[in-house]
Amino acid sequence: MKAIVNSKFYDFKNYREDSYILFDEKILKIGSMKEFTSIEKKHIDTIIDGSNCILMPGLINGHTHIYSTFSRGMNLPFNPQSFKDILDQLWWKLDGVLDIEDCYLSAIIYGVDCIKNGVTTLIDHHASGGNILGTLKKLKTAICDDLGLRGLFCFETSDRFNIDQCIEENIDFSKVKNESCYGLFGMHASMSISDSTMEKVYNLKGDIPIHIHVAESLDDEIDAINKYGKTVVERLRDHKLLGNNSILAHCVHINHMEAEILGNNNVFVALNPTSNMNNAVGLPDYNLLKRHNIPCIIGNDGLGANITREYLNLTYSMKNKYQSPLAFNFGDLLKIINNTYEYVSNQLGIKIGRLDEGYVADLILVPYNPPTMISEENIFSHIYFGIFDNFAPSYVICKGSIVMDNYKIKLPLSNVYEESREASRKIWNKLN
Ligand SMILES: [Zn+2]
Repeated sequence: MKAIVNSKFYDFKNYREDSYILFDEKILKIGSMKEFTSIEKKHIDTIIDGSNCILMPGLINGHTHIYSTFSRGMNLPFNPQSFKDILDQLWWKLDGVLDIEDCYLSAIIYGVDCIKNGVTTLIDHHASGGNILGTLKKLKTAICDDLGLRGLFCFETSDRFNIDQCIEENIDFSKVKNESCYGLFGMHASMSISDSTMEKVYNLKGDIPIHIHVAESLDDEIDAINKYGKTVVERLRDHKLLGNNSILAHCVHINHMEAEILGNNNVFVALNPTSNMNNAVGLPDYNLLKRHNIPCIIGNDGLGANITREYLNLTYSMKNKYQSPLAFNFGDLLKIINNTYEYVSNQLGIKIGRLDEGYVADLILVPYNPPTMISEENIFSHIYFGIFDNFAPSYVICKGSIVMDNYKIKLPLSNVYEESREASRKIWNKLN
């Protein structure tokens, strides 16, 4: 059993001052430091001092791409005129050559960056053309077993790849289900999936929820209308692929009718505003999603590992989009953060995202010395302006184990960065 003492606590709902927490894999007890003096301490093997820190639940990245690791510093001819060009000239070149060992290395490196950013659960959308079969288990080995985090994984089925293998990989991995990992059914996007592939997926996937990019750029909608005479969401509905807690990433260009369909079909939309700005594809219409009661979660689309930057950028970009400083408030952001916890709670069958007894011990300790008065009333203002903007947790704990100990991370391989650089040399050589 471990303890964190003398800390402030905040879990996107409740705030406590000067408190302690006892935990193993789950949170066992929480109370004020006044009570701590009287509790039995002989079973506590580690005590972390949380003075001048805020304890929070580990964060979740609701949509990411671990394979983007090897794009850092990559130099390919790049002159995109459209979003499809960005895929053709960059991402599809890179993911097309990755093999199973590259997947492992990318996951370790990406996972380490997640830990530094306080992210303890990732919802990944994977692609690797060099190997398809077995890659999701490899990601799970790196993220869940070797680094001790949680992950929801899927392989992005598309007509670019061997479709039967994509389907097999998703179905095979969905059998691995425990409290730290689960499989969704990955699909790339409407514009890379034919009707016959959609039908095959529907016939074989059973009740696994899909995880797909939807209307990330206008190209996706234009492609669906030109080829099939309907919008992206209508296509997915007609192929009976919506529902059952599916994740639809982006939904930047959906119209009112599509939002209505989504609102009636039990899906979650994963927002990734920084990636949308980087790709210059537009921004999601959050008010449209909100009006149709579509629950939103938040990811970063593999653009780095910092999820608090997404919290900030979502807020700024929505205010700017609607040209109103009141358009998107703390309540909206908190709702989206809490939806993300709720989603993972339901999929993994655990209680995650609160500092309460019975919840999993996925915790981050963030040094913070408030320069102004801090209380239950203004805590989120401190978190938003003081912590999200300078985010650097000192301790990260997942499943009750310390995965970052006072900024130190224990790597599963001592030479993982050398191996990764060597792998990048081989990968980039294949592309040039
Ligand atoms: Zn994505």
